[in-house]
Amino acid sequence: MKKILQIGNNVLRKTAQEVAISDIKSTETQEIIKEMSRILSKEEDGVAIAAPQIGYSKRIFVVADKIFEGEEGSPEKIFINPKITNLSKEKTLVDEGCLSVRWKYGRVRRSSKVTIKAYNKEGKKFQRGASGLLAQIFQHETDHLDGVLFVDKADDLKEYIPKDIKNEK
Ligand SMILES: [Zn+2]
Repeated sequence: MKKILQIGNNVLRKTAQEVAISDIKSTETQEIIKEMSRILSKEEDGVAIAAPQIGYSKRIFVVADKIFEGEEGSPEKIFINPKITNLSKEKTLVDEGCLSVRWKYGRVRRSSKVTIKAYNKEGKKFQRGASGLLAQIFQHETDHLDGVLFVDKADDLKEYIPKDIKNEK
């Protein structure tokens, strides 16, 4: 299984390529999405993952199911060629970490509300709004697609290595 790339890897710093609409339903794209979802589900603290994090320089990110708990209907969790079309002027300082920057955490100023447009895995275009954690995730993940990591923007970076991982060293 693919590993999550860590800061220092060039793929994380590239501007990811758009997926051609005609390629969304291709086996290749569908397999990448499956792989992303599989890897994300294994990360206990993971809330989302972008394709470059597993080595594909493509504009796709996947948000974990747990983020949508309590949301009615069947919210889209796969975002292909996402574009944030609206960022609130109001910003909040939020704690942030990243599966590609183990085990650092910092505070980042993010818009409290955003609107995003994307394609789902069936190639259908959709739009939604988000606030709070989901708005933060959308900003963090679209940054990944532009080669930006949260540490570029964060203040007050700290390292917290989980105990069980420390013991493995
Ligand atoms: Zn990240």
